Amino acid sequence: MNPKSIRVKEKKNLEIIWEDGSNFLLPLKYLRDQCPCATCKGETVLLKTYRPPAKAIITPEMYIIKNIETVGGYAIQIAWADGHNTGIYSWDYLIQLNEGQNVEDGQGKEQNYNDLL
Ligand SMILES: [Zn+2]
Repeated sequence: MNPKSIRVKEKKNLEIIWEDGSNFLLPLKYLRDQCPCATCKGETVLLKTYRPPAKAIITPEMYIIKNIETVGGYAIQIAWADGHNTGIYSWDYLIQLNEGQNVEDGQGKEQNYNDLL
């Protein structure tokens, strides 16, 4: 399935509407933090994953989208306002991110309640 429309809403969320009419929002901050490129996610070499150290400087530009281009009909490449543009988000990856954010939300709330009890 392919997206019918991808756009930034209120400078905070990326809205993806699929061909079947389903849709979801991904917060831009989450999207950037989960950037799938080798610089952000590390590279797997000889079955070991090397992760780069966490970035020391966080700027607002990191979480502003300057441009989105479709790549080969299976992904989008996002150019961020700080110049970072190597992250390619496939449709599958976007769906995974959406499922991941729902799972994390649910678990976080549940754990908080358990702590109170
Ligand atoms: Zn990246």
